[in-house]
Amino acid sequence: MTDCIFCKIIKGEIPCSKIYEDDKAFAFLDIAPVNKGHALVIPKEHHETFEDLPDDLLEYLTKLVRKVSKSVKQGVNADGYNIGMNIGKAAGQLVFHAHWHIIPRFNDDGLKTWPQKEYKEGEMDKFKEQIVKFL
Ligand code: AMP
Ligand code: ZN
Repeated sequence: MTDCIFCKIIKGEIPCSKIYEDDKAFAFLDIAPVNKGHALVIPKEHHETFEDLPDDLLEYLTKLVRKVSKSVKQGVNADGYNIGMNIGKAAGQLVFHAHWHIIPRFNDDGLKTWPQKEYKEGEMDKFKEQIVKFL
């Protein structure tokens, strides 16, 4: 993809703080970190979202995300980390080249997790049925 910022980073056309590269994958620091050390793991092949990744590549990248996560945690002496993917514009995806965020977390970083909602009586079962029919 010629106008994809992450494809340009992989090709070296845009600079980045690279932390890992092999023939299938690439990892670098997010330029606007949630916490310092926030890393991104991406496939070298351009696929827009998580859902588009071929199975073998997904398996490979998932293992790599675990490996990079451990090094981020150790490297910045984090107490934990969040792994996340924004899938679709509604979920906050800005770059349409599939990527995992690895966000180091600290006991005192003051960040909140997602706000949570409540189901009305019987509503949870309705949602369950809607989802199950597509599995
Ligand atoms: P998303 O909202 O999930 O699509 O996340 C895209 C991420 O890419 C954001 O967290 C950005 O800060 C990050 N980003 C965008 N451009 C660059 C860049 N040139 N180098 C490093 N990270 C970038
Ligand atoms: Zn791309």
